[in-house]
Amino acid sequence: MNVSIQNCTAILHAEFVGHSFNAIIDAVAIDSRSLQNSDTTLFFALVGPNNDAHFYIKELIAKGVQYFVVTHIPEDCQGKANFLVVKNTLLALQQLASYYRSLFHFPIIGITGSNGKTIVKEWLNFVLSPEYTIIRSPKSYNSQVGVPLSVIAINEQHNFGIFEAGISTVSEMEKLEPIIRPTIGVLTNIGSAHDEGFANTNEKIKEKLRLFDHSQILIYPKSDAIDALIRPELKTFSWSFYDPTADVFVSQKRMGTNTILNIAQKQEEFDITIPFQDEASIENVVSCVLVLLYLQYDFTTIQNRVAQLYPVEMRLKLKDGINNCSLIDDSYSADFQSLKIALDFLESQKQSSKKTLILSDIFQSGLTNDDLYARVGQLIVANKISRVIGIGPVISQFKNQFQNCVTFQTTSDFVSQIDQLHFENETILIKGARSFQFEKIVFALEEKTHETVLEINLNAISHNLNFYKSKMKPTTKMMVMVKAFGYGNGGFEIAKLLEHHKVDYLGVAFADEGISLKNAGIQLPIMVLNPESTSFSAIIQHQLEPEIYSIKGLKSFLKIAEQKNLHQFPIHIKLDTGMHRLGFEANTIDELITTLKGNQRVVVKSILSHMATSDAQEHQQFSLTQIRLFDELSTQLMRELDIQPIRHILNTSGINNFPQGQFDMVRLGIGLYGVSNEKEEQKYLENVSTLKSVISQIRTIPPGDSVGYGRRFMAKKTTQVATIPIGYADGISRLWGNEVGYVTINKQKASILGSVCMDMLMVNVTGIDCAEGDTVIVFGESPTVIEIAEKTHTIPYEILTRISQRVKRVFYRE
Ligand SMILES: *Cc1c(COP(=O)(O)O)cnc(C)c1O
Repeated sequence: MNVSIQNCTAILHAEFVGHSFNAIIDAVAIDSRSLQNSDTTLFFALVGPNNDAHFYIKELIAKGVQYFVVTHIPEDCQGKANFLVVKNTLLALQQLASYYRSLFHFPIIGITGSNGKTIVKEWLNFVLSPEYTIIRSPKSYNSQVGVPLSVIAINEQHNFGIFEAGISTVSEMEKLEPIIRPTIGVLTNIGSAHDEGFANTNEKIKEKLRLFDHSQILIYPKSDAIDALIRPELKTFSWSFYDPTADVFVSQKRMGTNTILNIAQKQEEFDITIPFQDEASIENVVSCVLVLLYLQYDFTTIQNRVAQLYPVEMRLKLKDGINNCSLIDDSYSADFQSLKIALDFLESQKQSSKKTLILSDIFQSGLTNDDLYARVGQLIVANKISRVIGIGPVISQFKNQFQNCVTFQTTSDFVSQIDQLHFENETILIKGARSFQFEKIVFALEEKTHETVLEINLNAISHNLNFYKSKMKPTTKMMVMVKAFGYGNGGFEIAKLLEHHKVDYLGVAFADEGISLKNAGIQLPIMVLNPESTSFSAIIQHQLEPEIYSIKGLKSFLKIAEQKNLHQFPIHIKLDTGMHRLGFEANTIDELITTLKGNQRVVVKSILSHMATSDAQEHQQFSLTQIRLFDELSTQLMRELDIQPIRHILNTSGINNFPQGQFDMVRLGIGLYGVSNEKEEQKYLENVSTLKSVISQIRTIPPGDSVGYGRRFMAKKTTQVATIPIGYADGISRLWGNEVGYVTINKQKASILGSVCMDMLMVNVTGIDCAEGDTVIVFGESPTVIEIAEKTHTIPYEILTRISQRVKRVFYRE
């Protein structure tokens, strides 16, 4: 974009305070941590429930950013940059995007619906790209912030737009509609996602339909519920598998791994063959076919294009690579917008200072190649990329644009020379257009372990963190517990993400957990809950902060502090208010005070206690007593020692059930990992961990045969048995065997037959469409860890933390 500050000021009805009124800005930004912000960026200081970007303006000015949209000018920034002062910065971002949208007059498809938005968008982009230069939402950028950022990326060369809009509650769509202003509307479907945000299904449909308030046409799956709510003037083009009165009637027939769709419109009909069998993909293909029909593509072209559709992988995956490298796998797309997103992810997750980018030719940027690769070059410099590997005939011609760059004509050329390139101790972003098949590069650079992986959804972690933040007072600080390897999910990667989100503290159980985080470069302060006296020296050496819970521990720490001549080393005082695990009891407070009084070796950074029953309604009185006692004892300490420490007592359930006990900080644990002890609260959390394996072998056994050790399953009829390479040594309880538990294969439940073995288990796949090598979900959306915990008489904490370290962890971001 190229818009003058003067223009922006007028559009936003802002008050301008600064000196460069005539400057032109060419990008907008909202993330203070991005390395892409420059002196021609307009930074919008968004204000969230617990995060206020105004706080980072000073830092940004120091990095060269000059233009800010703010609600107020931070005191120490007066006169140091240019400010556009508005009432609401998010609204301002949306207003600027709506204005910018109005400058363009080409067809724009707006997509909404409960599922399939991103896939339909990617597929439409694929089938329409031979004719158009298309701008589309990067990744799943469909939110109140994502939509304006997507639209602002339009430039003069584009002649077609495809944007998706996602909403979770009422009155969100009216903000997105003028930003996208679709000429062609696509409604994918109405499912149950986000039901909690709406009073009923009608309200949800109505809100979604607002996206099409100014559209020329709506393409949608015909249903009475939707028909009743479409405004009468809106032209429609509907499809259905069931209702012959729809404009297009679709019938389907399986053929091997393909599906043949018969598309019947008025008197005409034709068949298309698509490489999918599942219902969701078939619906998404039909949405695309209707768009093509509406745009008057002929049958042959439609047939050819949809036959080439492919599964869409929008996620950025973080994996362990060879020679201590880590890989960010984004091997399915290479457009300029998503490159920027991937580079931000690389910065936030880099695990070594050396950053490498492997990049293919970029298509469809809407820029000339000269301009495009010059901009890529700037991005690479701004992001401090240590080396660049370009793959493809076009990027090879622009090799000189990049420092420390080698290029290859094809992916195979590169793969054949991987050994000579000495990948070691670097974080590698692998970003390529689909046709380059960069999955081959990922395969070559990935550390191979066995087939069972625990996938961790980093977006879900951010979502859950924000959910709990929204329940806290804006001033309350947040400690996040990452003990036991982040509740089994992964210590460092999660700590890194939390650091990115600027939480205040991390908590671990033992010193060695904290030491490995510090060694890996985590800078957040880390409290050690359970320090042994023998680890005090290491704690001091690594700048960890011990929890002190007894006079004996305190004296021994003070002795070491004396020897090492420490001054005001941070410690945390734990009080026992009823849990009776660790902590000073009421009758030891006097001695604690005498021991600490006047001592300059240490400083009490915080005072804490822990609740025994924060999740149990029936023990509410007990919890309130704990909170009261904590208040009393800590107040006494503060008064008599004349200190102002941070006070904290609440864990996850406490945050939900005892808002009056927030004091100055809370300690979030299990909730971050997507599990709540309350059904109601659970609805608002997103699933974080999915344990996946594969089918090793399938066999058919006759009635009377048995399966596994001890012959504990006896087949009553002919049974298909699949073997999965995961067992109790990986953390699957034997209590979950013998048809108590199940796994999910191709969306169907397969119950576990007989005993769970050490490294394997067998499941019943009779009647389930599956093959050797298919993915198996051991837990995740279904079954959930909560369900497994209930049926095996334990708690979700145990299910998560006992997943063995031999199971590989893969982190991803959508
Ligand atoms: C583990 C732990 C927490 C977090 O508990 P959750 O129930 O997982 O939220 C908080 N404080 C202490 C002292 C802990 O040991």
